[in-house]
Amino acid sequence: MPFSKLTPKRHSFPLFQTEILRARRKPKAALISLVRNSELEGIEQSMRHLEARFNHKYNYPWIFFNDVPFDDTFKARTQNLTNAECFYATVPESHWSLPKWIDESRFISSLEYLGAIGVGKGWMISYRHMCRWNSGFFYKHPILDDYDWYWRVEPDVHFFCDVDYDPFVFMEENNLKYGFNMNILDDARSFPSMWRQTQEFMSEYPEFIHPEADFSWIIDHKNDGEYNNCQFFSNFEIGNLDLFRSKTYNTYFDYIDRRGGFYYERFGDAPLHTLAVVLFLSKRETHFFRDIGYQHDINKQCPANLLDKCSCEPTDLDENFYKLVPMESPQKKPDDSCIRLWLGGEWLERDDTGKYVRNGFEF
Ligand code: GDP
Ligand code: MN
Repeated sequence: MPFSKLTPKRHSFPLFQTEILRARRKPKAALISLVRNSELEGIEQSMRHLEARFNHKYNYPWIFFNDVPFDDTFKARTQNLTNAECFYATVPESHWSLPKWIDESRFISSLEYLGAIGVGKGWMISYRHMCRWNSGFFYKHPILDDYDWYWRVEPDVHFFCDVDYDPFVFMEENNLKYGFNMNILDDARSFPSMWRQTQEFMSEYPEFIHPEADFSWIIDHKNDGEYNNCQFFSNFEIGNLDLFRSKTYNTYFDYIDRRGGFYYERFGDAPLHTLAVVLFLSKRETHFFRDIGYQHDINKQCPANLLDKCSCEPTDLDENFYKLVPMESPQKKPDDSCIRLWLGGEWLERDDTGKYVRNGFEF
């Protein structure tokens, strides 16, 4: 029987037909990692975990990025850890160097100043390039042209839980664009003018703001509408590349980049992605992957309701809230943790004694 005879008429079963189409097509997705040759053992560790917990069943390709070419040992040993294809891309120099509009002496002062006051990696030139690349360049590399989705992986991270479903399919089917698993504070002394510049951008381009954009959870209402500095911890991200390829995002990135904050301050890709997600998406397009137990350095999150699938001690929802804020940083801390502010509703309710009605171990 010809296939067309089996296919329901387009207009009679539109939903059914889209389900068939969806079921057939594997998302165009990749696991991506910016990493140095010297971090081979660290990336091996991350790969072992993610392959065992997820990718050995799905075989999404790994794409490694580096500002210098990968060496043969790196290539052989990473490829050896997966049945999926591995690709190795070098970042073009123009994506990893000081733009011509940057005043070098002002940049050097910033390295010295942020280094002296103890902002993490504030003195490292490569760190500035890295944050800028993760903000405005990773998605421009032609190796990603054929992909719709990425999962960002760093060396030395841990994945604790079996991921028995395909998060990319999950994102597609639920019309999600950005997934995170920690929402925290970091040292706000690294991006003091990002919010002001973002507000200026918003008044210049009001048409770019999503009609359902929800700022309520990032605004400090007690502090004159300032940014509360909450950010998705971007070393873990599952995201849609079209979000970053959009004219909207690129106009925003260029606006910020032109003002030099990646070099005069130490703008991170985490707060920048966060503000972009808040500005350009509906909150419904953002997802909290609480089920993907994960650790990056001292930050760790482990779900409480998946004990049989995870090898970690459950962590409180509020666990990572301000661990990364050093004592020297004078920034104000919101009354509720970033993740509670994002979840909203009943997660913010407290009883008469000030205790949360819903405790942080519920999922
Ligand atoms: P942190 O997580 O903010 O402390 O920053 P990391 O030092 O972990 O860097 C973030 C990511 O960028 C990691 O995947 C690093 O491997 C990568 N990275 C940072 N600096 C460089 C660099 O100079 N070259 C390359 N190839 N990767 C880098
Ligand atoms: Mn890291």
